[in-house]
Amino acid sequence: MAESIIFTGKKCNNNCTICSVDAGEDKDALEMEDIEQKIKEALKVSDRISLTGGDPTEHPHFLEILKMAKDLGCKGIGVGTNGVNLADRKFVEEMADLGVDNVSIAIHGPPSVHNKITQKNSYDKAIQGLVNSIQKEFKKGVTMDSVVMRSNVSYLGKFWESALRMGVKRVNLMSILPEGRASTNFQKEALSYSEIKKFFYKNKETLKKFEIFFLMGFLRCSFPPKAPSALSHIPDLERSNWDFYGREGTPSKNFEKKDVCHNCPYSKNCAGPRRVITDIFGEEDFYNMLEMDNFIERSIKLESS
Ligand code: SF4
Repeated sequence: MAESIIFTGKKCNNNCTICSVDAGEDKDALEMEDIEQKIKEALKVSDRISLTGGDPTEHPHFLEILKMAKDLGCKGIGVGTNGVNLADRKFVEEMADLGVDNVSIAIHGPPSVHNKITQKNSYDKAIQGLVNSIQKEFKKGVTMDSVVMRSNVSYLGKFWESALRMGVKRVNLMSILPEGRASTNFQKEALSYSEIKKFFYKNKETLKKFEIFFLMGFLRCSFPPKAPSALSHIPDLERSNWDFYGREGTPSKNFEKKDVCHNCPYSKNCAGPRRVITDIFGEEDFYNMLEMDNFIERSIKLESS
């Protein structure tokens, strides 16, 4: 059963340039009554929840939220965090004792890159949080999240090699969203479709070394030629495409299919390229990206096989 995502408020101890919810230290955490209501609603459809924010661990009553969820009958809790508070090993123990069985920690590259993106000196603590979480062996694992953007795209491949040595087994790559504080920096940080495809080509062997990699917000046509086998590496394809659709499953007005999309085997689960990317880089960037590995020919083959 899929887990329900519970938003705990915008309070966060980082100030990331690419934050899609405009979270920060001076932002509010949600009232406990509101969170309780959300958890009760969520448990009607799933016995698992995932806490997000802001940074949920910055909620002044974070541990109470975990206890409340457990008392309400929640069977498993995921937490999406920047990892800073998890540098405290005792805190990680408490989280696990109160039902957390999965954590996702956002680290966007090596120290200087990560600290510049988070606008805090947060790298060392985030890494300690990651190491503590790996050592805790959360039942449903530990995932390292990275947003792929201009500031880190040339550093990620090498950074992942060091993450593998640290024991990271899962990575989750996300595209930058033109929302929240990220909308201010979108023009500067967004990558063209051709650049994203080159990035996947360049790093596909490193990515394959992870047990699992999730992809969120990327076009399936931006994966290298052996995409089907690369994709089989991703157990949760719908999630990899989640932001193409609203919660109700309707294609968003922020995307627009091109003529070639109608010949594409992925068309059913894809709303097409993001309008703002084609506005910045031009439609020819999208077509150039497809040309890189004769995507059209490949699509026809896939369709008929
Ligand atoms: S439907 Fe269009 S945008 Fe989506 S994967 Fe296919 S070619 Fe790419």
